[in-house]
Amino acid sequence: MMTSISPEEAWRRLAAGRSDPTPESLPRREAAGRVLAAPVQATVDLPPCDMSAMDGYAVSGGIVARSTLPVTGTIAAGDPPGHVLAPGTAVRIMTGAPVPADTEAVVPVEQTDAGEERVTFTAPSQAGAHIRKQGEVVRAGDEILTAGTAVSATVLGLLAAHGVETIDVYRAPRVATLSTGDEILPPDREPGPGQLRDSHTDFLLAAGATLGLGFKALGIARDDEADLARHIERGISHDVLLITGGVSKGIFDLVKDVLAGYGCRTLFDEVAIQPGKPLVAARHDKGWVFGLPGNPASAIVCFALLVRPFLRTMMGFKDGYWHGALSAELEAPLPGAHGRDRFVTASLRIKEGRILATPNLPEGSHDVVAYGSGSALVRISASSPPAPVGSACEVLPLPGLLG
Ligand code: AMP
Ligand code: MG
Repeated sequence: MMTSISPEEAWRRLAAGRSDPTPESLPRREAAGRVLAAPVQATVDLPPCDMSAMDGYAVSGGIVARSTLPVTGTIAAGDPPGHVLAPGTAVRIMTGAPVPADTEAVVPVEQTDAGEERVTFTAPSQAGAHIRKQGEVVRAGDEILTAGTAVSATVLGLLAAHGVETIDVYRAPRVATLSTGDEILPPDREPGPGQLRDSHTDFLLAAGATLGLGFKALGIARDDEADLARHIERGISHDVLLITGGVSKGIFDLVKDVLAGYGCRTLFDEVAIQPGKPLVAARHDKGWVFGLPGNPASAIVCFALLVRPFLRTMMGFKDGYWHGALSAELEAPLPGAHGRDRFVTASLRIKEGRILATPNLPEGSHDVVAYGSGSALVRISASSPPAPVGSACEVLPLPGLLG
């Protein structure tokens, strides 16, 4: 039995034991949600040519208000460049269309009284107005994305704009989940006396989906060494195995013993947080195992605080324990903590530029209703006194995971 460590120390041990994320090449659309392992260069100039930023008229000289010019043609987006603009004439031009070589300005259609063959300008033209210059956004060969950039929806669009077919990203960890407990039933079964439906498999599968990861569910193992061993043997062929239940001090909490038999070396087995104290992290030669406490709130908090950032760093994201926390103002009082950091969920809103947090105080770590509401965790630091309405608190928004 090890001693209880702080969550900061737990994160240090995880970060120290972790190997660098490994790159792989993926077709562009399969790379959404990953992290770039290499920079990306532009393949084309953007804009690809000098083009109009408005629907209007291309003109070659200074136009004064009330002047009229003949219209000699029309250029649409997609027309090839090379149209000629004779002095003293105007050409009708559309947004995104290539401007003729001698264009001084584009006068928007809103500043004209236009006829079929002539156009009268209601305002003077301004040199250079409404022309986007070739390559003013980016030139072919320029670096447009650095390694470490998350492949967001906007990044995917940018990659498509440059015709990038395959991308170097960091590999996603393969993760398996395993629930344990003689009293635990699959959710589609009717519980008998003393039995409970498995809530953790569904929680973890959905939590994985918020990270863009498809976890493999290995089902429910009984509190029996042979059955646990059979399931764990399948589980440790994954990069990360997430086991729930069976890690506290009861005589049926056998997970650690079985893991030891598979060459798992324990980094820690108790983290001083509430809810959640029994939390196991172990390594074997090919991957990692987390043993999350069975209590639903404990499993949620342990996953959110340590497993989630760990999986994200494996994917190449920068993350850590309590990484991304914000300062907020309490809209309801917060009780103090006794000896270890405590976490409850909170609903957040913005008012006059400030984040306001309303904590949802649970009945205990079995209170799944309280832990099922709110979109953030609030940290109540160890030994802190009760905090009144209006005082500052720290919140970690976890949209998709909570709320
Ligand atoms: P354990 O950590 O195995 O001692 O479990 C602690 C508590 O969490 C017990 O009340 C279990 O019944 C409950 N529990 C364990 N696993 C699950 C699960 N998969 N779904 C719902 N409750 C669970
Ligand atoms: Mg159990």
